[in-house]
Amino acid sequence: MGSEKYIMEGVRKIPIIVEADVVVAGSGPAGIGAALACARNGARTVIIEREFALGGMMTTGLMSKIAISSTIKGIAVEIIEKLAQTGMSLPKGAPEVPIDPEATKILLDELLLRENVQIMLGSVVAGATVESGEIKAVIVENKSGRQAITAKVFIDATGDGDLAVTAGASYELGRKEDGLCSAPTLMFRIGNVDIEAMLSYIVEHPEELQGYSFSKPRDPSELVEAIHSRPQAYANFGRFNALINKVAAEREFNEWEWQVLRQRNGFVILNMPQPNQVLVNSTRILQTSSVDAQQLSNSMVEGRKQAWFLFEFLKQNLSGFQDSYIMDTAAQMGVRESRRIVGDYMLTEDDVLNQARFDDVIVRNTGGVEVHSPTGNELQIVHLKTGEWYDIPYRSILVKDLNNLLVAGRCFSATHIALSAARSIGFCMAQGQAAGTAAALAIKSGVNIRQVPISELRSLLDM
Ligand SMILES: Cc1cc2nc3c(=O)[nH]c(=O)nc-3n(C[C@H](O)[C@H](O)[C@H](O)COP(=O)(O)OP(=O)(O)OC[C@H]3O[C@@H](n4cnc5c(N)ncnc54)[C@H](O)[C@@H]3O)c2cc1C
Repeated sequence: MGSEKYIMEGVRKIPIIVEADVVVAGSGPAGIGAALACARNGARTVIIEREFALGGMMTTGLMSKIAISSTIKGIAVEIIEKLAQTGMSLPKGAPEVPIDPEATKILLDELLLRENVQIMLGSVVAGATVESGEIKAVIVENKSGRQAITAKVFIDATGDGDLAVTAGASYELGRKEDGLCSAPTLMFRIGNVDIEAMLSYIVEHPEELQGYSFSKPRDPSELVEAIHSRPQAYANFGRFNALINKVAAEREFNEWEWQVLRQRNGFVILNMPQPNQVLVNSTRILQTSSVDAQQLSNSMVEGRKQAWFLFEFLKQNLSGFQDSYIMDTAAQMGVRESRRIVGDYMLTEDDVLNQARFDDVIVRNTGGVEVHSPTGNELQIVHLKTGEWYDIPYRSILVKDLNNLLVAGRCFSATHIALSAARSIGFCMAQGQAAGTAAALAIKSGVNIRQVPISELRSLLDM
């Protein structure tokens, strides 16, 4: 929210605590891909994360299911396989791979420390010093106060483009007509669920699986097979619309309750690698901005209220949930879209739908359009056909008018619709991997990030 009134802050002397080669801001899938790739290619790397765990939406956001295109390899596959070794991912579910968030946190700590990446948790990127289009330092705020970290190249993987914006980059926000973004969701987990009892209910009520525009399985036998196969496969349990309608016929829901029950066209409930747990992707916060501090705070409060209401509905009404409990709600809001930083090229809806090819391709993606209405329960989905993909050009991670900043993940340079297609966890990791590799290559070769030889960059990527 803007304000007409201001206070002035005096000039501050800020200690430089680290002089790095590369600073990665944000440790979601994009930041992890970037930091690992930087370090593996010889750059002294610092990763800065405002939460006290690495992983972003995968862990503290509890969106613990990696969607991964068939065209994506590299670090995303490495992480899935490492988690599978301890039963902490469901490998048979690819291209949708549920992962355990706690096992993912410790794995990410270990992977980054093995490559000597300096991890700075609990540190918010709050500012930057810029001279002649070049970032000299980022300023972080944490328990020690304000601290500065210098580097040769910076990578913004904050999802919201916080570093890019504080350094003066241009950005776009939301739909052209009203600036509203795809609606966010606060994720939560339920424990002690009797999955077999829930399955029995679904087998008796196959209509509960109706209404998916995506996500398998589509019939009860496929669902039972997925859950009983070893290793277990990914499953999406149902909509439970028949149940909602039955309960609604027996008791009255107020307007808010009815909206919360209907906003995802029923429930979206997924299995997890650990037994008796489910992940619920059914809250939806309407008409909100995820880069307005007060609105974001309000969204968290509203998200938790929705989560508890939805949980109570399941506990009271759905077989298998009678003895269940809420394990946790996510520590951060599940933001699908916020600022999109303007790069040297902006990926468009046409590029996605017409399978664009670019000379400077760094990632190939198969994700289709998936816009979650910011004002209601609509979901706009356009799938690509099997075997189709579009290229993501290097130019779309180069930030316009800044000479040493790359952007990776949810805030890369794409239109509202194109971003809805290119934001899966596997994709963001691959894009981060490309950004990190490019940063390290630029430093090693003594060239600007815009002069990185694309053929050499590509030879270092798993594509
Ligand atoms: C509800 C929901 C469901 C989804 N479903 C799926 C799915 O099923 N499968 C799938 O693959 N993808 C899914 N996605 C998409 C995917 O989770 C995100 O697009 C992806 O995580 C984006 O990765 P990122 O690294 O760009 O950003 P994020 O994962 O958002 O990570 C950004 C990180 O930066 C940190 N950060 C932000 N600002 C600052 C700052 N100023 N200083 C320091 N740190 C900062 C954050 O704390 C966070 O850790 C879903 C997303 C949502 C919201």
